Amino acid sequence: MPPFPVMFKTVSSDCNLDCEYCYYRESLEGTRPRRRIDERLLEQFIPKYMDYVADVGVASMSWQGGEPTLIGLPFFEKVVALQAAYAHRGTAIANSLQTNGVLLNDEWGSFLKRHNWLVGVSLDGPEEIHDQFRKDRGGHGSFERVMQGIDALRRHAVDFNILCVLGPHNVDRPRELMRFFRQQQFTHVQYIPAMAFQALEPEKPPAYLITPEQYGVFLTETFDDWYQNGAPTLSVRIFDNFLQSYAGIPNELCAHSDRCDAGVVLEYDGSAYPCDFYIGLQWQLGNVLDTPLAEIAAGAAKQSFVARKAHLPEACTHCGWLMVCKGGCVRNWTFTPNGPAPDYFCTAYQRLYQHAAERLRDLAGALQNKWRYLDVMETDPHRIKRAGRNDPCPCGSGKKHKHCCASPARDASYVFHQ
Ligand code: SF4
Ligand code: SF4
Repeated sequence: MPPFPVMFKTVSSDCNLDCEYCYYRESLEGTRPRRRIDERLLEQFIPKYMDYVADVGVASMSWQGGEPTLIGLPFFEKVVALQAAYAHRGTAIANSLQTNGVLLNDEWGSFLKRHNWLVGVSLDGPEEIHDQFRKDRGGHGSFERVMQGIDALRRHAVDFNILCVLGPHNVDRPRELMRFFRQQQFTHVQYIPAMAFQALEPEKPPAYLITPEQYGVFLTETFDDWYQNGAPTLSVRIFDNFLQSYAGIPNELCAHSDRCDAGVVLEYDGSAYPCDFYIGLQWQLGNVLDTPLAEIAAGAAKQSFVARKAHLPEACTHCGWLMVCKGGCVRNWTFTPNGPAPDYFCTAYQRLYQHAAERLRDLAGALQNKWRYLDVMETDPHRIKRAGRNDPCPCGSGKKHKHCCASPARDASYVFHQ
C-alpha cells in the first residue's frame, strides 16, 4: 500500500493575517462563520488512519490553514496524544505545521520540539518586501511578529523551513532574497509563485501575479546563487528536487513527478479532496466520517484525479526536459477542446533547465560519487583512512581526495549530507 499523507485544513480559511495574494482566504471570506476541526472528528479519524497506515509504517500529517495555530495548542496536544494512543508498533509519525509564525512563542516552541514537528514559516523576504503583502486586517505589516515567532523556534531548536511566496513585490529581487535568507542563517527555503485563483472554484482558470519570464529569470539567478561552485549551503526545494531527478531519485514535488498525487486534503469538517488547489464539490473524495479510508486514498475518484497527468500536453510528450519536468502542475495547464496546453510556467522551467542542466548533472555525479565513498567507508574503512589528501579519491572519480570527497567545501554543503 502506498504512503497516505494527509494535509489538514485545520481552521479552514480562517487567518489572523489578510495577505492580498492568498488563494485560499478569498474563497471563503465572508461566506461562513468561524470554522475549526472538531475534536470529535479527530477522535474518529486518527484511530482509523493509524490502522490504515499500519502496513506501510508511516503516518504523515501536515497541519495547514488558513492559520492553523489559531486553533490553539491544546488541540495539538490532543493530536499527539491520540497519535501515540492509536499508532501501531513501529509506525513512524511525522507531523508538520505550516504557519505565518505570528502566534509562535516559547510554549509553541517547546511543544514543537518535544514532539519533533517540522515547521514551515511563511516569510517573503526582508521587512520592506515582506510587509508589502503580508499584512493584518488593520493594514499593519507582520514582519516583526513573524521574526519573533522564528526566534521562538530557534530558542527551542525546532526544525523549520521558510516558504517564500513570489509576487510582484519580490520576483525581481532574487539575489536580495537569497542574501537575506543567508544572513538570517536559514537552512531551507521554498519559493512558491503566487496565483490568484480560488481553491473552492477549481474550474475557474487561475490568474497569475507574475509572468513566466519573470519567474524564469528569478529561477536562473537564484540557481546561480544557490550553486556555490558545486557545494550549495542553503537548500532551495525546487533545485533539490531537480538534483534528485538527475541523481535518479524520484522527485517529491508533485508538479515534477509522474503522478498528480499530493496525498489527501481534509477540510475542517472531514470532507476529503485530492489536492490543495481542488477544494471543490466536484472533486470531493468523500468524508472521513463515513467513507472508508481505502476509498478516499485509492478509490475511483482519487484514481481519476491522479490519472489526469497520464495524458500530458502534446508539447510535453516530445519535450527534451520531460525527464526532469514531468509536465509541471496540472492546475497550471490550460484545458482546450484539443487537449491540454502546457503549464503556464513552461518557458520558465525551460529557461532554468537550459541554464542549469550541466551543473545539475555535475552535482548529481558528485553526489553519486559520495554515495560510493560512503559505501567504501562502511565496507573498507581502512581504505579511506589510508587515502592521503593528494591520493586519488576512493570514490573512483579520478580526482584528488582533497578536491573530491574530502574537500572542506563539500563537507560544508548540505547536499552531501542528505
Ligand atoms: S518544460 Fe514545458 S513542455 Fe517541457 S515537460 Fe515541462 S511543461 Fe512540458
Ligand atoms: S494539480 Fe498540481 S499541485 Fe495538485 S496534485 Fe496535481 S501537480 Fe500537484
